[in-house]
Parts: sequence; C-alpha cells; structure tokens
Amino acid sequence: MVKCGPEEEALVLQVLRSGSLTQGTMVQRFEALCCEMTGANHAIAVNNGTTALAVALEALQLQPGDEVITSAFTFVATLNAILAAGATARFADIDADDFNISPTSAADLVTKRTRVVLPVHLFGQPADLAPLNDLATRHDLAIVEDAAQAHGARYHGTRLGTTAGQATFSFYATKNLQSGEGGVVTTDDDALAERLRLLRNHGMRTRYEYEIAGHNYRLTELAAAVAVPQFARLADIMAARAANAEYFSQNLSGLPGVVTPVTRPDCEHAWHQYTLRITSDCPATRDEVVRRLNEAAIGAMVYYPRAVYDYDCYRGHPRVITNGCPVAERVAGEVVSIPVHQHLSESERDEIATAVRSAVSA
Ligand SMILES: *Cc1c(COP(=O)(O)O)cnc(C)c1O
Repeated sequence: MVKCGPEEEALVLQVLRSGSLTQGTMVQRFEALCCEMTGANHAIAVNNGTTALAVALEALQLQPGDEVITSAFTFVATLNAILAAGATARFADIDADDFNISPTSAADLVTKRTRVVLPVHLFGQPADLAPLNDLATRHDLAIVEDAAQAHGARYHGTRLGTTAGQATFSFYATKNLQSGEGGVVTTDDDALAERLRLLRNHGMRTRYEYEIAGHNYRLTELAAAVAVPQFARLADIMAARAANAEYFSQNLSGLPGVVTPVTRPDCEHAWHQYTLRITSDCPATRDEVVRRLNEAAIGAMVYYPRAVYDYDCYRGHPRVITNGCPVAERVAGEVVSIPVHQHLSESERDEIATAVRSAVSA
C-alpha cells in the first residue's frame, strides 16, 4: 500500500486534461518503469494481476488437459488464473520456513501433461528458483512467476522478473506499488511479448486486423498515472519495510511457539507481509493471538486461512487436482501477519511489537 501524494495528483490531472484516458503514453511510461524495475526486455501492462497471470499462461498456448504446478499456499487469484487459462491445476506443498513452493514436492508432481511451473513469491520472499529452473529445463516446462507481492525483490542478486520465462506483478491497492487496479507481465522472450500484446488488445496489431482471438485487458492511463511516480520511491519503500521487519524479528524472536519469518540466503525480500507462525508450543492459539491483536486495534490478518484448493467450490472440480499438502494445510492454521508497511511510525512499530508479546503470552 502506497499513500498517494502531489506527484500522483499532478500526473492524474495531466491525463484527465489530455483527453486520452486509456492505453497510451502514460501506460508506455509505466511499462518502461516495469522494465527498469525488473531488468526485463519487455513489460506488457494489463488491467490487473490476475489477468497478468491468465494472459501469461494463455500466451503459452496450453491445450485442455495441460497441467500447471503451483503452490498450495497462495492467494486464490493464482488458482483462478490457471482455471481461466483452461489448464489443470496441481499443487506442490510448501516449505514451512519460507512459505514458498517446495522444489522437491513440485518435482514429484511432474507428469507427461505438465507444461508450466508457477511459483509464487509469497509475502515478497523469492521462491527458490534455481531448482525450479533445473526442473523446467529437464522436462521442457515453462516458468511463470507470480510476483504480485514481490516488486523489487531479488533472487541470488537478480531482480525478479528476468530470472525465468515470464513474471507477473499486481498493482492492486494493497500491493507494495499500487494503481488501484493494475498488472504487468515481464519477459525477455520477444515472441511471447508479441503474443501478450496481441492477446491484450483483441488480437489486433493494426486496427480491425485480428490475428488471434484476444481480449480487452488494457490498463487505463489514469491507473498508470497513479503508479508511475511510485517507482522512484521503491528503494525507500523496500528499505523501510526491511527495517520494520528487522525490528520485529529482533523484538519477537525467542518467544515460545512464535516463529519469526526468515529471509532466504542471498535473496532480497520485498516484505509485502511480515508473517509469524504461532505453533503448538505457544500458550495462546493462533486465533486467540489474532483476536487479541485486533482488540488492541492492531491490523493483524491471516494470509491465508486455508490451502488454496481447500474450499467447497474447488472440491471435485475436474481441473483442480490434489491429494492434500500437509505442510501448507498446517501452516495455514499457524500464520498471522502484522503491519510492516513503510508508513509505520517508530511508535506504532513499538506498539505492535508490545501487543504481539502480550498476545502470545498465557
Ligand atoms: C494480489 C495477488 C494476485 C492478483 O492480483 P490482482 O491485481 O488483485 O488481480 C495474484 N497473486 C497473488 C499472490 C496476489 O497476492
């Protein structure tokens, strides 16, 4: 979440006065900034992060029955995008340490129908891409990274968005950079970029010449104008979030049954969420901790209360296939996220840490 200021106001007004309200020069500026943020050669702006995932999958020209392996622990958009692309979803379990897809669990799910591995950089922490890239190379799979929560994060020194085939980001109102609604696909692959641009705009390169069946997934100039000024602040946003995370980890480590989040070695975490695990060694249950924090007016939230497939609407769904993921299902009962955003003052940070210490005691 970014509070908008005078720069966003000025750019939005500029767009309004220009009279061109959708996909034009402001969207081009937004795309250039997304290339700069990721180091990718191409950025294709779309209307939201779910669309970005769906169109990235569609660009791979999946056939009915083709399988996408993703993480069992993610926001539902990841699964819905796979279903929207007509593919079949299978779920790898996670590593409890970093909340991200377990490469060994993903490897166990590969069948002859597998086409894509879709890791999610959950809470802003890069998933372990090296073994996933190896797996993809061995089985000729595409990689689509869900980086909706991970603007600016780095894996082994490389910014997310260039490390594999395609990456998608969301600019939804609560994300680390935001335009109300918005999304982007980044890639170094020229042919995929070309296809993504066609799919975004009814398959048109030239007006009323339809090359493929497409969509209207365009981003508005107004939304782009809200996001554009924020990129210059990304380094500060990331540093402030990292400093808050560091503070919490120092203040909350060693409490019985409270596990503070880790940063993978050689990675830079975007700290979209700061997520504690409340285990059975804690004198209070996770739900009690959340209730106590909310009573103390702390915006503690559970992301996410269940494994992504664990809802009635997906049970028995012919394209949602799982035998269960025990780690994800357990961790969903342990997590609680506390505010870590860049607008926290030092006294608010203090207050949150004190409230957590008291909420996790008997
Ligand atoms: C927010 C989010 C999305 C979807 O983005 P929208 O812009 O809200 O459509 C996808 N995946 C994850 C992990 C997200 O957090």
